[in-house]
Amino acid sequence: MVDLIPSSDTVMEILKRTGAFREGHFVYPNGKHSPHYFQMPLAFRYYDTARVLAVGLSRKFRVDRDISSQLPKVAVISPSSGGIPVAFGVRDALSAEQIYWAEQEGGNRMFRQYVNKGEVNPCIIVDDIIRSGHAIEETLELVKTLGSKVIGCGAIVRFTSAPDRLGDVPIRSLVEFDAHMYDSGDACSDCKKEAPLEHVRF
Ligand SMILES: [Zn+2]
Repeated sequence: MVDLIPSSDTVMEILKRTGAFREGHFVYPNGKHSPHYFQMPLAFRYYDTARVLAVGLSRKFRVDRDISSQLPKVAVISPSSGGIPVAFGVRDALSAEQIYWAEQEGGNRMFRQYVNKGEVNPCIIVDDIIRSGHAIEETLELVKTLGSKVIGCGAIVRFTSAPDRLGDVPIRSLVEFDAHMYDSGDACSDCKKEAPLEHVRF
């Protein structure tokens, strides 16, 4: 089972092939410059690649005794829209009972579904990419207020600058990516080379 988890290189090949990972000279809305750009939904537009990625991530949870012993009474939760296809794929692979997804509303992260305290099974929080970890940390707080607990957390890609744990649980990922970000053009090596810029969204 374990060798069916795709390697980091295989996952990066998939992300490049689908356009979800690009190299170049990018400027983000917050003014930061970077030589690489992830737009993960581009990998999830194809059923086959979406399945390989989500099933691969699910296997990292399946081997965890604490998680596998609680299946199927588990909820898979996405902090935002980007993680929804990951959450559906992981839920399907694990035959977990519940799925929820959150959204930002008036600056607060809230579940899209109306949920009463006590209704949410022990949770696995999944996302397509973990850049800073803020989204999953806010989702952890949300889960606590609903009287449930987080038993797993993971993403297809985790930036190594992000936390590697969420509360009590390790954050699992298929790729650990050492992201290069420059606070401004002054520090950016591509700006020094006068490489053409591309403005991108998160
Ligand atoms: Zn630059």
